[in-house]
Amino acid sequence: MSRLIATRRLASNIFVPRLATRTFCTDAPAKLNDVPSSGSHSNKEPKDDEGLPQHDVAIVGGGMVGMALACSLASMPLTKHLSIAIIDSNPALSNGPVIKKDDPPDPRVSTVTPATISLFKDIGAWEYVEQHRHAYFNKMQVWDYTGFGYTRYNARDADKDVLGCVVENKVLHKSLLSCLQNKDINNTIYPTRLSSISLPTRSSVSSAGASASNMSSKNLANLAKLDLSDGTNLYAKLVVGADGSKSRVRELAGIKTTGWNYSQSAVICTVEHPTENFCAWQRFLPAGPIALLPIGDNFSNIVWTMSPKDASNHKIMNEDDFVKALNHALDFGHGPRPESRVFGGDVISSFFKPDVTSSVHERFEPPPKVVKLASDRMAFPLSLMHANQYASKRVVLIGDAAHTVHPLAGQGVNMGYGDVSSLSNVIADGVAVGSDIGEVTLLKKYEADRKTANIAMMAVLDGFQKAYSVDFGPVNILRAAAFNGANVFAPLKRNIISYASGELRLPFLS
Ligand SMILES: Cc1cc2nc3c(=O)[nH]c(=O)nc-3n(C[C@H](O)[C@H](O)[C@H](O)COP(=O)(O)OP(=O)(O)OC[C@H]3O[C@@H](n4cnc5c(N)ncnc54)[C@H](O)[C@@H]3O)c2cc1C
Repeated sequence: MSRLIATRRLASNIFVPRLATRTFCTDAPAKLNDVPSSGSHSNKEPKDDEGLPQHDVAIVGGGMVGMALACSLASMPLTKHLSIAIIDSNPALSNGPVIKKDDPPDPRVSTVTPATISLFKDIGAWEYVEQHRHAYFNKMQVWDYTGFGYTRYNARDADKDVLGCVVENKVLHKSLLSCLQNKDINNTIYPTRLSSISLPTRSSVSSAGASASNMSSKNLANLAKLDLSDGTNLYAKLVVGADGSKSRVRELAGIKTTGWNYSQSAVICTVEHPTENFCAWQRFLPAGPIALLPIGDNFSNIVWTMSPKDASNHKIMNEDDFVKALNHALDFGHGPRPESRVFGGDVISSFFKPDVTSSVHERFEPPPKVVKLASDRMAFPLSLMHANQYASKRVVLIGDAAHTVHPLAGQGVNMGYGDVSSLSNVIADGVAVGSDIGEVTLLKKYEADRKTANIAMMAVLDGFQKAYSVDFGPVNILRAAAFNGANVFAPLKRNIISYASGELRLPFLS
């Protein structure tokens, strides 16, 4: 843990700001005179402590999750006046290219759940997504290379229109950036990186939520001071670590993690097939799952899990060999296609009548044949990581900074968006009652809300990863039984769908 964190800065470094014009979040909306309101931070900020910018919230990491938090806070009546700093050197935040619908597809995509779509609609970012390449899907087929079993999911099984939507990450990110730019709000983008943070060691004084006119340098010493890599310093009442799995905020706050590497990598790319695809396909292979996810037009995205060595080879092999290997992995390689109802699914389903889902009678379908690559290939090592705490005084973690998961169920960023909704509500509750938004008792409400949900999801995903890493006769039979059970047993199927959709219910029977 950095000593900078544990130790309060020397008196000479303590900020004595021009207080008279500044208000913090419990007061009426106000803008800092010495911070540009909206748009990129100019390096003309005063560098001495007297003129340091102050923000209510400093979001470190303007990725898909950090930007969503900024938009969410800017959208809620109780929080829209907060002064928000976004710190990230990613050039996409300052001058990213305009995205056109017919641009070549990007290999990095996310499957977003109905819960995430609702969040984007609430903050006003979904319209942008719908104007760009995206693909809703209402069917999903999951099966096993042994040929013993398969499950088909249909949105109708759970009275839904869609199971999810696949969107390129750059489109999700840009939708949030555009949404922020279109709001008349108090935010500043610092195009640089966080180097260190000085956190107060003593307990909060009550006036941390009070108006600037009451503020003394003693109160400001109770804020977090951030040192950025371009030499800028700023103060914030709350530092949000949205800086990804290798979070500097988490490290500086001394928050430990639990986790492991999977000894697996995911090769991702976008491919073309002859007809449009409206189904998400996932086949479990001995080395891990391969998914073919629709992204609109005749394109689909591939997420193919394999050993790191195989991933390196598959990244560089020539296109023809890669496409051949892909079709082999997606369909006929390693084992036969499942016969419909190998385990007498119709017999099993008859026990549950009339409570059967509409998809129970859908037969196994082969996935579309890939004809060519439509993007570069990329490979990512896979791991599970969970922060032991999400909140400490003036610091909170969201998104991959708090948890990273195996991408087999496409839940990672959706969990991050769940964090965003919860944290925004907790901050709004704090503002409503005049609390200090960096106070740990308030932030622990967010932690309590999200930790349980995230740990449950991580346990499910890790269980899947482990169950499908074993290639052993009896285990294969059990897996097949699980596939067939999920296919025919309507309450289980509905619960799986609603859990994967982001509704906060565990996938147990109800
Ligand atoms: C192969 C693969 C497929 C996936 N598919 C899906 C899917 O289908 N659905 C899904 O929900 N999830 C999926 N995920 C997970 C998803 O991509 C992540 O959960 C998501 O990108 C996390 O977003 P984030 O904003 O928390 O972190 P990141 O995307 O890592 O963003 C962190 C940001 O912080 C910035 N940063 C880092 N350090 C600093 C610093 N010191 N100072 C300032 N800024 C800093 C970085 O520049 C970056 O912009 C997948 C992941 C992988 C690997």
